Amino acid sequence: MPVTVVARAAAEPTFRNLRFIDIGVNLTDSVFRGYHHGRKKHDDDLDLVLERSRLAGVKSMIITGGSLHESKEALELARTYGFYATIGCHPTRSSQFDKFKGGPSAYLDALDALIEKHLRGKGRVVAVGECGLDYDRTHFADPETQRAHFRSQLGLAKKYHLPLFLHSRAAHADFVKILRDEGFGQDGGKAAGGNGGVVHSFTGTAEEVAELVQMGFHISVNGCSMKTEANLVAVKAIPPGKIMFETDSPWCSMTASHASRPHIDALPQSLRSLYFPPDTKPERFVYGKPVKGRNEPTSIGGVAWVLHRMNEGVAFERIAERAWKNTVEVFGLDELRDTSENALASAST
Ligand SMILES: [Zn+2]
Repeated sequence: MPVTVVARAAAEPTFRNLRFIDIGVNLTDSVFRGYHHGRKKHDDDLDLVLERSRLAGVKSMIITGGSLHESKEALELARTYGFYATIGCHPTRSSQFDKFKGGPSAYLDALDALIEKHLRGKGRVVAVGECGLDYDRTHFADPETQRAHFRSQLGLAKKYHLPLFLHSRAAHADFVKILRDEGFGQDGGKAAGGNGGVVHSFTGTAEEVAELVQMGFHISVNGCSMKTEANLVAVKAIPPGKIMFETDSPWCSMTASHASRPHIDALPQSLRSLYFPPDTKPERFVYGKPVKGRNEPTSIGGVAWVLHRMNEGVAFERIAERAWKNTVEVFGLDELRDTSENALASAST
C-alpha cells in the first residue's frame, strides 16, 4: 500500500501516496557493512539503512551488479530482501573480461549462465548491466577494452529480451554508435530482440536526452545528475514518460554546493526529515543514524522533488507516480503492478 506522509505543521501541504523504486543502488558496497575505504569504522547497519528507506516511501530497489562477482552478491541481497538485481560488468571493470580464466568468452558465458539461472521469482535479474562506456575513467580500462565488452553484453540483453541498465560518461558518440550498430537504434532494440532500458546516473546534455529518448531509452536521474545549472537544464528536458529515479547509493549524495540545493531547501520539513535525516561522521557512528558522505535510498524523494520543481505545475505525487509506472513497465516488476490482486496481497501483510 502506498505510504502516507502526514505533514507536521498545519501550514505544510499533506502528501499522500508517495512511493519510490530506487532503480540504481549499490547495496553490495561494504560501506553498508561499516567499512569506509576498506577499514572497519562501525557496525554493519544495512538493516537500518533499509528501515529508513521504507519510512521514506522506498518500496523496492534494483541492486546494481557491476561485475560477475558483484552480480552474484546483488542477486543474493535481492533474494534476501525481496528486491531485484542487474547482472553485468561496469565499463571501468571491463578488463576483468580479459583477465578471466578462459578469457573474455568464458566471462561472458559466466554472466550468461547467471542470468539464465535467475530469470524468475523473488530476487530475480531484471536488467543486463551495469554496462556501457566511461571515458572519464580510462585508467581502469582503456576505451577499446570498454567498447569490446560493452558490445558483447548487448548480446545478452537480446538473447534474454532483458532491458539494459546503461552507464555513459563522457562517451556519448561512441555509446550511441555501438547501441545503433547492435540494433538498439530505435524502439529500444525491440526488432533485434532487445527490450529497451535506462541510461542511469545521467549527466549529459538536453540534446543527448533527445537522442536517447528517440532511440527508445529511459533516463534515470540521481544527485550527480543535478550538480550544475547545465545539468538541471538537461534533466528538465526528460519527458515524464521516460523518467526514472535512483540514488546510486552510497555514491552521488546531494551536497550543499550543488545546483539542486535551493530546491532541496524548499522541501517541506516533514519530507526533508525523511529524505535527509540528520547524519553523523563515521568516527562518531550512532546506531540508527545515517553516516555523513554515505548516500542512502531515503534521498530518492529529494531527487524526485527537484524534478517536480523543474516541472512547474506538475504535482510532486504525479512526478513520483510517473517514474514508478515507467519503472514497473520497463523492468516488468509484476509484483508492484496496481492490480486488485496485488492490492489484496499488500493489505494482508
Ligand atoms: Zn554508473
